[in-house]
Amino acid sequence: MVNILGVPFGGSSVPVIAGPCSIESKEQFLGLAQELKEMKVSFLRGGIYKLRTNPESFQGLGKEAYPIAQEVSHATGLPFTSEVTDPRQIEELHEITSMFQVGTRNMYNYDLLKELGKSSKPVLLKRAFSATYGEFLNAAEYILAAGNKNVLLCERGIRTFVNDTRNTFDINAIPFLKNRTDLPVLADPSHGTGLTELVEPVALAALAAGADGLIIEVHNDPKNALSDGQQALTTEQFKSFLDKADKILNVLGRSLHERG
Ligand code: PEP
Ligand code: MN
Repeated sequence: MVNILGVPFGGSSVPVIAGPCSIESKEQFLGLAQELKEMKVSFLRGGIYKLRTNPESFQGLGKEAYPIAQEVSHATGLPFTSEVTDPRQIEELHEITSMFQVGTRNMYNYDLLKELGKSSKPVLLKRAFSATYGEFLNAAEYILAAGNKNVLLCERGIRTFVNDTRNTFDINAIPFLKNRTDLPVLADPSHGTGLTELVEPVALAALAAGADGLIIEVHNDPKNALSDGQQALTTEQFKSFLDKADKILNVLGRSLHERG
């Protein structure tokens, strides 16, 4: 079990991390975060440094997002996670985030993993889109061996011959990893599918398969999002998903973690 500021990952209460792919402005993030707080979401996400396939694409606000993230996390009282893309960002992001996120493109960045292993802050390690389970577990071991025992694994879809969806969410990964390790195993159905209409069914499947938490992209205006709008849920879609998620979990003797 990894407890982050009162949010337990790995027990019978299952938290959902939600927020935009990228922090775009104070208005956008604050407005969305307040809506999410009303829905009793446990944890916020929001990209500050974005590793985009196309160098012309929006790269995130970078340092400009630091005061926004701090203010939103403080105003809502919710923990916040964001991706660290370079060891040089660790010190600064340590002040801003409650948990570091390592993205799919950096799972093999062993120097980054070793540095995060020296940190006292939890790390959400995403599976590289081409990684075997063994490689994924070894990447986690780099962080654990360096002293940081608060590692959470996240299945976020892999690259297969199917090119109709952005990635193929590997449902096998959840029970497989849970049988091999005591680390919490989370699911990211947003990047795992890349399509809004697939997020809810795949997220429910991940919970049924035993996921210890979810990380989901939600946007107040997906059509105008600066990144990943095609896979974002609207706040209405997200709210209706949460009800179903709790019902699935109840069948399995678990429940959705709600911020009190
Ligand atoms: C993200 O969660 O913002 C992200 C970029 O995810 P991934 O690294 O899994 O693509
Ligand atoms: Mn994204």
